Amino acid sequence: LIERMRSYGETIFAEMTRLATETKSVNLGQGFPDTDGPRSLLEGANRYVLEGVNQYPPGPGRPELREAVARYRSRRHGIDLDPETQVYITVGATGGIAASLLSLVEPGDEVVVFEPMYDSYAAVISLAGGVRKPVPLRRDDTTGRFTFDPAELNAAVGPRTRVVMVNTPHNPTGAVFDASELEEIAKVCREHDLIAVTDEVYEFLTFDGAPHVPLATLPGMAERTLSISSVGKTFAVTGWKTGWVMGPEPLVRAARTVNQFLTFSANGALQMAIADAFENEEKWVEQQRDALQRKRDRLAEGLVETGFDVRPCEGTYFLMADIRPLGYSDGEDLARALPREAGVAAVPAKVFYDHEEEGAHLLRFAFCKQDEVLDEAVARLRRWH
Ligand code: PMP
Ligand code: GLN
Repeated sequence: LIERMRSYGETIFAEMTRLATETKSVNLGQGFPDTDGPRSLLEGANRYVLEGVNQYPPGPGRPELREAVARYRSRRHGIDLDPETQVYITVGATGGIAASLLSLVEPGDEVVVFEPMYDSYAAVISLAGGVRKPVPLRRDDTTGRFTFDPAELNAAVGPRTRVVMVNTPHNPTGAVFDASELEEIAKVCREHDLIAVTDEVYEFLTFDGAPHVPLATLPGMAERTLSISSVGKTFAVTGWKTGWVMGPEPLVRAARTVNQFLTFSANGALQMAIADAFENEEKWVEQQRDALQRKRDRLAEGLVETGFDVRPCEGTYFLMADIRPLGYSDGEDLARALPREAGVAAVPAKVFYDHEEEGAHLLRFAFCKQDEVLDEAVARLRRWH
């Protein structure tokens, strides 16, 4: 293994799911729903396969899906994308993130990231030979929200900075960046001529009416932002691994050039089914979001009753819980012990930080599960503590 990848072992999601299976735990670790997306989407995949959509799709993706993506971005956000040149389809958002960063980051270039950060960012930046400059998201004393200090964002930018990586709604904190936070990021990008890469995979999963605002809609940002999303969370089919990269033609072309040699193309039949779902299943997506909001409240209540200090969650399907009121301080130790001791699996937030001490006391619980499953997890936690 090349030297710069040696610090990356098995991902925390794989480790925790394996531990959950071994111990027959309720798995609130790795984030995936335990019910599938809309019936018409599943039937569509079936039908397209049987109808013969089984050979290589075009490298940039099936035109039907690229058009459907351009239409929903226009409908929801007023963003106009040419489906030919400004949208391309990848193997999950993970594939889009890899192709984007690998096409932009030269060895030695710096990438500003907000920590805690989703695990693939650090690994891909390392793969590109880049250097991460983490900006911490911390609890705001009055609102309890995770937010950043604009001064720390500015301080993270230097002469070698090339990219700012932005994830909203944010995994694992559940923060949804508001207009003023996004404007701070946009300002830094404009002033220092930086490119933004945004991970918006939870764009449809915001709660209590919080709007998802794509960074690309801010002044001066459309021409310098690659926006990435995927089907997994929106339609509850995380195993379908189909994502898309959207943005100005030169940046999309750069990422496409790299992607040709990472995966060439993604699954064609699924792309067709997803394109239909974007036209026909808008209602399902809204109902899913509302159901998840209720699940968030259900799990939060149970965790609070158990004694955790639960942080506000504005989007995604994760809750962050502070373990200190229960008398623990190291979330990594607790996450490894919890499956055996309590029969519940969670993810230690510490693994998403460069400054580990910032997140050592936090566990991330996924609430994208059936109510009975959430209730069982809470019952087990209450017996444990
Ligand atoms: N980004 C974030 C923030 C995620 O949480 C995930 C996975 N859940 C991904 C990217 C990966 O998405 P995909 O499965 O479409 O590759
Ligand atoms: N994104 C999912 C999570 O945060 C996990 C995806 C994966 O296993 N790589 O839990």
